[in-house]
Amino acid sequence: MSVIVLVEHTEGIIKKKSFEAVQYASVIAKKTGTTTAAVVAGNVAESEMQALGNYGADKVLHVTNYKINSSQHRAFARILVTAAKQENSAVIVTLHDVNGRAIAPRVAVVLKAGLVSGALSLPDTDKGFVVKKSAFSGKAFAFVNVTSDIKVVMLIPNTFPLVKTEGTAAIEKLDVSFEDKDFGVKVVSVDKITGEIPLSDAELVVSGGRGLKGPENWGLIEDLAKELGAATACSRPVADAHWRPHHEHVGQTGGTIRPHLYIAAGISGAIQHLAGVSGSKTIVVINKDPEAPFFKAANYGVVGDVMEVLPRLTEAVRKFKS
Ligand code: FAD
Repeated sequence: MSVIVLVEHTEGIIKKKSFEAVQYASVIAKKTGTTTAAVVAGNVAESEMQALGNYGADKVLHVTNYKINSSQHRAFARILVTAAKQENSAVIVTLHDVNGRAIAPRVAVVLKAGLVSGALSLPDTDKGFVVKKSAFSGKAFAFVNVTSDIKVVMLIPNTFPLVKTEGTAAIEKLDVSFEDKDFGVKVVSVDKITGEIPLSDAELVVSGGRGLKGPENWGLIEDLAKELGAATACSRPVADAHWRPHHEHVGQTGGTIRPHLYIAAGISGAIQHLAGVSGSKTIVVINKDPEAPFFKAANYGVVGDVMEVLPRLTEAVRKFKS
């Protein structure tokens, strides 16, 4: 009997948030007196899979199928169901991200499991299986008790700090009987993002909104991000207007991030934007309107014009570093 956890990777490199999911699953396993089985699909080096042992995986169930890519959510659901049945699992963990949102509900339906999305805490097993979760796009918390025999938990990335330990994970092959329909999604082309810090892994993020006026001013965001070693992000209208690529858009309909520092320049702070960033440890808001709603969610605020404040901030960071 194991806690099953889905591991995501990019071209064989396991994502930081998946190490966090494995660590989370392993604490649940210890609490419930079981072991942790991490599920990896596709081409990943053995040394990379063994690194999962440092975050609490007792074993890795490896699915080798040349057809699998991260868009094939039906295939991943079948993999998790197969793994859960083989391991007689009572708990299955995925991330609450774009892949987890497509995979976890499918798994829950097939296994007749209860599902907690947006998990922000370990389950309190003294009171049943009570998990604190994000509700109303991060405006509130809910505590849900999952009473079904099998439970699917979707962890919000960057909720827990990673703690590396020394551990080993045995690697086993997992055979899955796929059906053609599992591979219904065809990848037509892939746009590779190179030379940037991935937003989901970034500890520091500099983000811009419509207050930047246009893509010609984005150098102000990029300069500050470069000095800080930060990733860049944006509000949805900015991505919709093609000032910035869509993968940078954060919020209810974009990415959810929880960096140590989120600098929001020229962003009003609409609830849909806050849904993706309100878990940031420190929020700095730069806005010329002192009534901008974002100031209510900020730890530090600068009332001023981004065109003046951003270059001065960049210069100050440069001086501080030299
Ligand atoms: P604006 O609302 O136009 O705000 C611009 C801000 O810049 C203002 O506060 C202004 O005072 C300030 N400003 C202007 N000029 C300057 C200057 N020179 N210096 C300093 N400050 C300046 N939005 C998201 O971001 N993410 C989402 O995922 C998302 N999902 C949505 C889902 C739904 C269903 C809906 C209905 C909306 C969604 N939105 C989302 C849109 C959201 O409601 C807001 O419209 C959007 O976040 C506003 O973007 P903004 O703050 O960049 O622009």
